[in-house]
Amino acid sequence: MMDLMADSKVHNETRQGEAYAPFANDPSNYQKKFYIESYGCAMNFSDSEIVASILNSAGFGATRNTDDADLILLNTCSIRDKAEQTIRKRLTEFRKVKNKKPGLLIGVLGCMAERLKSNLLEEEKLVDMVVGPDAYRTLPGLIEEAEGGQKAVNVLLSRDETYADISPVRLESNGVNAFISIMRGCNNMCSFCVVPFTRGRERSRDANSIVAEAWDLFNRGFREVTLLGQNVDSYYFVDEQNNETVSFAMLLEKVALLSAELRIRFSTSHPKDITDEVLFTIAKYENICNYIHLPVQSGNSRILQLMNRTYTREWYMKKINRIREIIPDCGISSDIIAGFCSETEEEHSDTLSIMDYSRYDYGYMYFYSERPGTLAERRYTDDVPEDVKKRRLQEIVDKQYALSVESNKRDIGHTYKVLIEGNSKKDEHFWMGRSSQNKVIVFPKENHELQKADYVMVKVNDCTKGTLLGTIVN
Ligand code: SAM
Ligand code: SF4
Repeated sequence: MMDLMADSKVHNETRQGEAYAPFANDPSNYQKKFYIESYGCAMNFSDSEIVASILNSAGFGATRNTDDADLILLNTCSIRDKAEQTIRKRLTEFRKVKNKKPGLLIGVLGCMAERLKSNLLEEEKLVDMVVGPDAYRTLPGLIEEAEGGQKAVNVLLSRDETYADISPVRLESNGVNAFISIMRGCNNMCSFCVVPFTRGRERSRDANSIVAEAWDLFNRGFREVTLLGQNVDSYYFVDEQNNETVSFAMLLEKVALLSAELRIRFSTSHPKDITDEVLFTIAKYENICNYIHLPVQSGNSRILQLMNRTYTREWYMKKINRIREIIPDCGISSDIIAGFCSETEEEHSDTLSIMDYSRYDYGYMYFYSERPGTLAERRYTDDVPEDVKKRRLQEIVDKQYALSVESNKRDIGHTYKVLIEGNSKKDEHFWMGRSSQNKVIVFPKENHELQKADYVMVKVNDCTKGTLLGTIVN
């Protein structure tokens, strides 16, 4: 994957394989320790926080050091072949650790669980436990089984599990931004995508529990929440207690009304589902960020049809127009796949031209990777040669680079409200924060009495390819 976003929070390439630290100020003395590494999208990172909460209740504390661990978990991703290869390599390394420490348990969680359970457990004998994304509540029982020498497996997908009542442990947090899962699974059958098979049917979490989680985070000092789902705009919850049906726009509003000091972001929007109601809600509330991740995947209508995206090039362009009409200063980013089955040069150039049209601020770009069991694997031939896919991807990356630079240059001279996330990585005399449009802004602290999680107005004076540089405006 190529990511032209300096420090994206939703798909963060630099976080792949990240291990969690023990919690700061945790008073509990745990008898046993678990180590967890997370791969893939923000949903998976958010799931690891649910897993941590379940394991705490079962008497396991987190460690960042595999040598201290009684249990090593990998929360895995299947979205592209490369992700699976990286994880397999990691499992082989852990297998060696286990040879030296026989009581150690190794488990695979997440998207690879369902797909590869028999390979991982029986053929390759790499792991002791395989646990799918809807089965984390059964982890304590599975650990006991595995401790007794049995192979512990639960990859059942559920129609209703949302972990609504589990309060995630924010292990690796800056104390300013947090993710809240609002739904699980996906009902869209994009032909290239393995998610509907690995994560099951779409289901929305109880709106009351989402609002309660956001409120709790706010009271603990967090100032930004990102509502997460594969397709957030199809969020739909029937609240029988309050006799109302909550749409995504209504959910956004409920969270926005908690406090004007709490920023709200969300991801991901499928272009077919984002409604005017959602756009007007974003425009109405200053604390709902003016930023939409609207993956196009391809700019060509024939390819979009093969991808089963259910919109055409023209329809997508109209959606972009509508966003710009209702939220004129909206940041927009996209996911793009290069070299999907049978894509011609001309069709590829349609992708380049829709990028120009949409003026994306950021892009997440991939070349097509055929996934077993998907509609595309069954119906189409993966016939674009790898070198062509890579060259097309490079052209897309170059285009996005130019668009991101142009977008940053357009910001020079403008003033933005910035939420401070912490010190700049390069220099502690500088703050780092984000604008509503999700752009990273770095600026000198000067003599202002400010701290992390404060809001401040910053005027942009300059930019690098991924960062805006500014100064505080009094
Ligand atoms: N639900 C979100 C959506 O529809 O945009 C995100 C799904 S996926 C986790 C993130 C991105 O991975 C997709 O938008 C797509 O661009 C990319 N992707 C998914 N399957 C892929 C494949 N087989 N090959 C290459 N890229 C893929
Ligand atoms: Fe995959 Fe499409 Fe669902 Fe996104 S919307 S998770 S790309 S099937």
